[in-house]
Amino acid sequence: MSGHIKTAFSRLALDLGAVCANYRTIARRVAPAACGAVIKADAYGLGARDVAPALYDEGCRVFFVAQFSEALNVTDVLGEDAEIVILNGLEPGAEAACAAHEFLPVLNADSQVARWRDLARAKGTPLPAVLQVDSGMSRLGLDASAAASLAADPAFAREVPLRLIITHLACADEPGHAANAEQSARFRAIRRLFPTVQASIANSGGAFLSSAFHCDLVRPGIALYGVQPHSSSILMHPVVRLDARILQIREIEAGIRVGYGLDYAAPSRRRIATLGIGYADGWPRCLGGTGTGTGSAWHAGQRLPIVGRVSMDSMTIDLTALAPDALAEGDFVELLGPSQSLADVARDAGTIAYEILTRLGTRSERIFAGHQTAAAAALETVQ
Ligand SMILES: *Cc1c(COP(=O)(O)O)cnc(C)c1O
Repeated sequence: MSGHIKTAFSRLALDLGAVCANYRTIARRVAPAACGAVIKADAYGLGARDVAPALYDEGCRVFFVAQFSEALNVTDVLGEDAEIVILNGLEPGAEAACAAHEFLPVLNADSQVARWRDLARAKGTPLPAVLQVDSGMSRLGLDASAAASLAADPAFAREVPLRLIITHLACADEPGHAANAEQSARFRAIRRLFPTVQASIANSGGAFLSSAFHCDLVRPGIALYGVQPHSSSILMHPVVRLDARILQIREIEAGIRVGYGLDYAAPSRRRIATLGIGYADGWPRCLGGTGTGTGSAWHAGQRLPIVGRVSMDSMTIDLTALAPDALAEGDFVELLGPSQSLADVARDAGTIAYEILTRLGTRSERIFAGHQTAAAAALETVQ
């Protein structure tokens, strides 16, 4: 089970109630369009086997993963009527297993269409799928002319009943970007070729654009997990909190150096704490470095700068700003929470919140707050 304790050097607290509240907020906003959920990459690192059933209980029936193995990972925790869509496409060799499990592969290229049709003919049964078209991002999906030839082929409709036709926006997190309207217009033209098929264009960013982007179904990921897709008056509830344990505290004199490369030299007498979290836990190494780095831990609203380089399993922070007895060995300090959001850490690390979130938690103790799935409750009992 993914939530098994490996160490208690860091604690990742997940609020499944907040995930559900975020789902309801988006679902209300996009109605009458339906709201699916993207749970690829183990629900962005949060644990798909916990997140997916919680969302199913909220009424979500369409789940998007990236890979066949991710579909397999959640199929037994979802109800029979849940549909699992594999965004990265039909993996060579996975065709028969995909059909047996009734997963919906996204057909992204002619070769994938051909392999799925071959299987449908061989089995003598129609095999439903999702079709992706490229509307300008040049990543995945058929181009307009390939989609047009499929639409003109009556055998295709018999062999592969399409559940959904999708495209993906390149700039949905920039509401004013001209590409959004351009992609939407190209998608509308392709959709007209498949008039009876439901359509989906919006990720989280798209769900917060105008209703023209909602089509029949939206497929948010990051917003469910508490990250605002772009400045919008609709606020997402934070979902994760990360705390790291203090392994050791020492006082160092001016001039004493800290960490690999001895990059940091104390400018005056300092109190330094070593935390049990490092880059192998997904905490970005670039947040440390010379001087005080750019990264921070927090305690009771006080910033505690990272000093020296971030190691694989630990990193050092400066506690001097706190009262001497404010923290002791064994205590936890905040890395993500009310004082520091995923967006703050992403900004300091020069990346996006998605990257921070998906890398976290492999060695952290996972704690559940809010909505309890049976699996999460059972796990907590074991702990
Ligand atoms: C990852 C992904 C999403 C979800 O994107 P968010 O920005 O996390 O909401 C939706 N659609 C596709 C095709 C994706 O790859």
